[in-house]
Amino acid sequence: MTSKANFAKSWLGLLLVGTLNLAAAEKPADRTLPVRGFCIASPSGNRLDEFIKFIEEELAPRSVNVLILRVDYGYQFQSRPEMADHRGLSQEQAQKIAAVCKQHHIRIIPLINLLGHQSWQSNCGKLLKVHPEFDETPDVKFPEKYAWPNPDKLYCKSYCPRHPKVHEVVFALVDEVCDAFEADAFHAGMDEVFYLGEDQCPRCKGRDKAELFADEVRAIRDHLQSAKRQLWLWGDRLLDGKLTGLGEWEASRNDTHPAVDLIPKDVVICDWHYVRADQTAVYFAMKGLDVVSCSWKNPEAATAQVKDMVRFRESSTPQMKRHFQGVMQTIWSGSGGFLDQYYGRRPANEQKNPGHTESKCFVRMFEEIANLK
Ligand SMILES: [Zn+2]
Repeated sequence: MTSKANFAKSWLGLLLVGTLNLAAAEKPADRTLPVRGFCIASPSGNRLDEFIKFIEEELAPRSVNVLILRVDYGYQFQSRPEMADHRGLSQEQAQKIAAVCKQHHIRIIPLINLLGHQSWQSNCGKLLKVHPEFDETPDVKFPEKYAWPNPDKLYCKSYCPRHPKVHEVVFALVDEVCDAFEADAFHAGMDEVFYLGEDQCPRCKGRDKAELFADEVRAIRDHLQSAKRQLWLWGDRLLDGKLTGLGEWEASRNDTHPAVDLIPKDVVICDWHYVRADQTAVYFAMKGLDVVSCSWKNPEAATAQVKDMVRFRESSTPQMKRHFQGVMQTIWSGSGGFLDQYYGRRPANEQKNPGHTESKCFVRMFEEIANLK
């Protein structure tokens, strides 16, 4: 073979390799629906291999490109040893997950619930167990038998966002998990915050709740910016629960919703609606915020969100289109529980709503996405 032919052949080879790489990185849905997300609790260490197999065999072929991993305090923290969970993921295990996600072009975004969800109904979370001084409502004691409604309006505890030491602790945890997963974004949760600006907190008493919420969003966002990381959060505290009729979980009835005009515009809103495909994504986009519509286990709502998001993008100006980022399914049964359900080892409870299960919704929603042009 002449040197000229060799030269031509090597160029052809380079061109082919380049095209194949491009094909691997870009999926047909990237323009139609930039974010195709999946949100789940991080696996326990002993089920890591199965979780990685699920990423490779189920998420990657469905063109999932964002994985929100709810790490919370289930991690072997080294930066704050007092917060370490020895049954949680290790740095080495986090890096294993990060490596497989990178290989499949999946952006991994770890989540730790900040501000709210610092307890469940009767169980205190790790942060307030170790640092009870951060409790926004120290006078509220956990009842032996929980009921809702209750006189304390206890749903979940919050930390006090104005405690002078709280950010020093939680930001160390945020940085550590982001480093471990090599993440360029962090999800701070911040949903269903019921306790905020409470009278029993000397620092927050009498303060405007929307300003308190927005200040906390800004503090987290500014901290992440120093490492060029983006902040994601749930959207419910930014919606008016009374006006929309969405109630006090899916939206705010504790006066936080004006914060939508006070938070930085470069955060990403995960707008969750699990019963209907409420079209509040348009509201967030009109506020100049990027938005991802989130579903749970209702296949009809999930597929409607896919169609709506595509329609919003098709019928918008370029200025608005860029805010309609995509969709995400959220899993709330735990990582192992979901895998057991998905692989048929444990039947899901469909008594209330036949056909409404996390695994059926997952399959159906990503079928809808696969059919996009
Ligand atoms: Zn406070």
